[in-house]
Amino acid sequence: MVFLAILRHEGGGRLSLRPNPIERLTRPVIRNIMERHGLSPSRALGQNFLCEPTLIDKIVRLARVEEGDAVVEIGPGLGSLTVGLALAGASVLAVEIDRYLLPALREVVAGLDVEVVNADALAVDWPTVLESWRPAPGSGYRVVANLPYNIATPLILDLLRDRPEFTGWLVLVQREVGERLAAAPGTAACGIPSVLMSYWGTAEVVGRVPAEVFLPRPKVESVLVRIERGPTPRIECDFAPLATLVRAGFGQRRKMLRRSLAAHLTVEQIEAAEVRPTDRAEQLDLDAWGRLTRVHQAR
Ligand code: SAM
Repeated sequence: MVFLAILRHEGGGRLSLRPNPIERLTRPVIRNIMERHGLSPSRALGQNFLCEPTLIDKIVRLARVEEGDAVVEIGPGLGSLTVGLALAGASVLAVEIDRYLLPALREVVAGLDVEVVNADALAVDWPTVLESWRPAPGSGYRVVANLPYNIATPLILDLLRDRPEFTGWLVLVQREVGERLAAAPGTAACGIPSVLMSYWGTAEVVGRVPAEVFLPRPKVESVLVRIERGPTPRIECDFAPLATLVRAGFGQRRKMLRRSLAAHLTVEQIEAAEVRPTDRAEQLDLDAWGRLTRVHQAR
């Protein structure tokens, strides 16, 4: 248990310094919260709650969260990670879709610098929500989240495209999702998310997380992924046509590019981009995708 000194109003408007217990969310604490609030974890919403404070502190360290940072947490759940972030001195915007969790979450984060918003992170009007919370610091907002596994890839790719102010990320995702995001060209794990991710920045798997630290235990393995989004794309071409070509190439990943990209580029155009038409999508690096996109746009 961590004690946080907060100012409280006494009777008569007097202010006094009084320790307020901030409880870390261990397995028994989470069970107790769920019981008191009549909650059970929703599989559909990917609710696997973290119940190991030492791991949470490690996540906060790996996320490089510092005093005064503005952190966006997607899917705070019962607040396991939210508390760790706030105790590290961050100001946290916690966006949670499940309204039934909110009373419990608000109870857990009471007295901390946490703003809870009930919204779907895939559909929320981010500019409005962020503006009414706090302006982006010069270095941008940090995103730290134990993501619901079924929406992790689209959520990350959509936010990389739409929210350049989300500059530094540390996310907990299913192992296959994390490895694909971070995969280098030419490797078996390389796929659509790897190339689209690399357009915006870099992704690196920075740790593995055992199933025992979740309540309930997930059936899949998990990894921590650090993402750094640059201020500009890493190659010079538009994103939409790049994404179209990448999806076409990997949509038929066993086929040579002259077949998989036939609807978009002729063999001559592929050669003009200095790419071998007999290569397969996973063999191309980001620069090669950029050259193909520029040839496609110049048609
Ligand atoms: N952060 C908590 C933790 O680590 O214990 C909970 C993580 S749990 C894996 C994922 C959380 O995301 C759940 O609380 C779930 O309700 C929430 N969630 C699922 N889909 C969401 C969405 N589209 N937008 C916002 N939150 C979502």
